[in-house]
Amino acid sequence: MKKPIIAFTIGLVLTGCSNAEVINSGAQSVDAAVPIEEKLIDSVVTEKPIEKATPQEDTDSIEKKDEVINVVSNPDDPLVLVNKHYPLPEDYEPSDLVAPDIPFSFKEDLPKRYVRKIAAEALEELFAEAKKEQLELLGASGYRSYQRQEAIFTANVAKKGEEEARKVSAVPGQSEHQTGLSMDVTSRFVGYDVIEEFAETKEGIWLKDNAHKYGFIIRYPKGKEDITGYSYEPWHIRYVGKEAATVIYENGYTFEEYLSH
Ligand SMILES: [Zn+2]
Repeated sequence: MKKPIIAFTIGLVLTGCSNAEVINSGAQSVDAAVPIEEKLIDSVVTEKPIEKATPQEDTDSIEKKDEVINVVSNPDDPLVLVNKHYPLPEDYEPSDLVAPDIPFSFKEDLPKRYVRKIAAEALEELFAEAKKEQLELLGASGYRSYQRQEAIFTANVAKKGEEEARKVSAVPGQSEHQTGLSMDVTSRFVGYDVIEEFAETKEGIWLKDNAHKYGFIIRYPKGKEDITGYSYEPWHIRYVGKEAATVIYENGYTFEEYLSH
């Protein structure tokens, strides 16, 4: 854990820098900056370009380890719930993926640069407002196909065992990144990584308090792990629209709690 702490300390020292300086001076380390889950599989999986597919909207149920899992029937709905009980269809791919005009922590034109159009427009507004506040946000990972999630999960199982892998990475179909409505956000002050320390940076604090104004929620809040099924992820934002995001923010709900009210 030494690296993030050092990165954060340097970050504190440098927060007086202008936004432009921060981005330019950070450019050299961008190449080395890859989120943890990506690092695990770099040598195993090559990300492929997006191929257009027709979304499947059939409702289906499958039996898995004694529990009924309900495949979601509304994958194109901006309020779609995806979690360990509600996976997306294996072949679901959004039909309106675009690359938002925001800075990213990598240079390549990869699928993870893409999100659905509605989320892309909201991200552009969110990032523009952050920039006005002299904050440096970067996109780290957006859309992720079922097949890529499968590769990430398999690599994590091989490295950590299935129980640990389930805590830190989604089972294929259960990742919100497959909706095209989620983006992992980072900054140079956490070494362009996706780590819990992001919550303590100026960027992480601002994101938590302002994301709802642009239709985003912190999808996996602290202390709600038993409801969301995932560890705290201050970097993972999910587009749900301004109305839902505001209710969720003001009441301290998880998305699951919001939908059950
Ligand atoms: Zn994420």
